Amino acid sequence: MNRTLIEIKALSKQCHCGNDHNDIPIETIMISDDALQQVVIYLQRKRYQTVALIVDQHTFEAAGRQLSALLQGEQIHHTTCFIQPDENGDVIADEASIVQALLEVPHDVDAILAVGSGTIHDITRFCSYKMKVPFISVPTAPSVDGFTSMGAPLIIRGVKKTIQAQAPIAVFADISVLKQAPKQMIAAGFGDMIAKYTSLIDWRFGHLVAGEPYCPLVDKITQESLQECVNNIEKIAAAEEEGVQILMNALLQSGIAMLIMGQSYPASGGEHHLSHYWEMEFLRRKKPQVLHGTKVGVSTSLIAEVYTNHFLILLNDLRENKALLGNKTIELLERNRQKIKEWFGSLPSPSELRLMMERVGGACTPEQLGIDQELVDRSLKEAYHLRDRFTILRFLNEFVK
Ligand SMILES: [Zn+2]
Repeated sequence: MNRTLIEIKALSKQCHCGNDHNDIPIETIMISDDALQQVVIYLQRKRYQTVALIVDQHTFEAAGRQLSALLQGEQIHHTTCFIQPDENGDVIADEASIVQALLEVPHDVDAILAVGSGTIHDITRFCSYKMKVPFISVPTAPSVDGFTSMGAPLIIRGVKKTIQAQAPIAVFADISVLKQAPKQMIAAGFGDMIAKYTSLIDWRFGHLVAGEPYCPLVDKITQESLQECVNNIEKIAAAEEEGVQILMNALLQSGIAMLIMGQSYPASGGEHHLSHYWEMEFLRRKKPQVLHGTKVGVSTSLIAEVYTNHFLILLNDLRENKALLGNKTIELLERNRQKIKEWFGSLPSPSELRLMMERVGGACTPEQLGIDQELVDRSLKEAYHLRDRFTILRFLNEFVK
């Protein structure tokens, strides 16, 4: 991370924003070429003798096999749970995967290791929390910012919910593994980061107009992670050691920001709600899934477009739009107009956002993901219902006639 874990822990302790910040339970974060070996050393230091690995077919090949051999060499007893894919070949964090993990992980393990990307982490995060054992994160791709957070987004009966569970006690990100990750996963990680452009605006908006809990420190940490990625887009696009390390740093740091807040406020706004809505629709249609960050990379430019075309126009001409807005709403926006406009000053245009996604080799339009206009329009009207958040998307739907 561009800030060290110790530094962030200290900043969070000193923060006087009025929110009760969560203690950061992460003891160590290691991003290095020998992180898999470091896992073994860490387990020995903790005197953990029995562990379980949760993997899928792909992540076992990426890192699980190697880690398993290292554990074997040091006589650390371990079992490996291979999460089965659904009929489309996708591994999903749903009730079937959770029950499989709960059935297969022995009840007497000292810790569970999530060896994989976001989905494997969400399954492990939830199961380890229910089993009251610590979990250790071993990411195999820099594809999402959820590794270090507490929330597990799960699909339960077809509905995507984020359940607060637990953060890992340690993270071991092996650069030699991460740089082998498919390029689309690296692009997805970048997509999850540029989402912070709109999620931060939504968060500040929700705080300003609806009193949602807010913390300037968490905002700043998230912003720094975003900026670091944008400044190094060429290196990330090249998918070599340095770029992968920068991206992973940013993703972990953004996850820690969520962890301090205890909620996903800083990292997830209207753009994430659209993505969740699309994901649920794909499940209903039994279509193969698209990576979380890939969808979010697309929904961010879409949300940026809606916010600038509809919301900013309203904001600029409040009196002109009297017919659309009630008097109370006009007063509220007038009071905060200057501040809100400042936030939008740092938001790239929708076409700039699309260019960024293109540069890292990601999708930039809904069509590229097989999402038709009807679904886009419907999600813009309905997705905000998925979360109890006061986003600009909610505002446009509920307060503008
Ligand atoms: Zn995300």
